[in-house]
Amino acid sequence: MKELQEKILKEGTALNETVLKVDGFLNHQVDPLLMQKIGEEFANYFEDRGITKVFTIESSGIAPAVMAAIKLDVPMVILKKQQSKILNGEVYQTKVTSFTKGTSYELTLSKKYIDKDDKILLIDDFLANGEAAQGGIRLIEEAGATVSGIGIVIEKSFQPGRKKLDDRGFDVYSLARISRLDKGVIEFVEEA
Ligand code: 5GP
Repeated sequence: MKELQEKILKEGTALNETVLKVDGFLNHQVDPLLMQKIGEEFANYFEDRGITKVFTIESSGIAPAVMAAIKLDVPMVILKKQQSKILNGEVYQTKVTSFTKGTSYELTLSKKYIDKDDKILLIDDFLANGEAAQGGIRLIEEAGATVSGIGIVIEKSFQPGRKKLDDRGFDVYSLARISRLDKGVIEFVEEA
């Protein structure tokens, strides 16, 4: 998505070879019009999959996910990051290691908000090692529902997450694919 690439080049900061900061429009301050276009792009791409719910991981996936959910006219569910296990049988939980913080959390989904017939579009802000996305997939599959697509705002294609998801046969649609980062350097994958 050209507009997103331009925004990343203009406002993003590569801190080092692995971390891109986009606090000005996605992770801290949010650009609502850009989020709307991103949501529409996801919704258009996945529109014929019979999506019944959009899932995202708190917190930076919420803005693009809610925009996609409006366009698809389905509910949006936030997978929560809890500090510890909840042992009451009313939730699905799985442990995920955070890329940016190096710590882990229990990704949590109430059983009330998923059904085995659900076809889910999973949206997140970044794809790096694929830990967060795979945690979301585990919860959806544990509930017997289907992951019908994965929408990523910014994929760091030089990290292993994309390949892991491709190898498992998921349809991953990333709106910006970064091939290289370094201090002051941001390069994109050349799309054919
Ligand atoms: P993964 O689980 O794929 O390793 O990492 C994805 C999660 O880590 C995303 O939900 C995002 O919050 C965070 N993340 C990974 N890489 C970056 C990055 O370069 N910049 C920012 N701002 N967040 C990142």
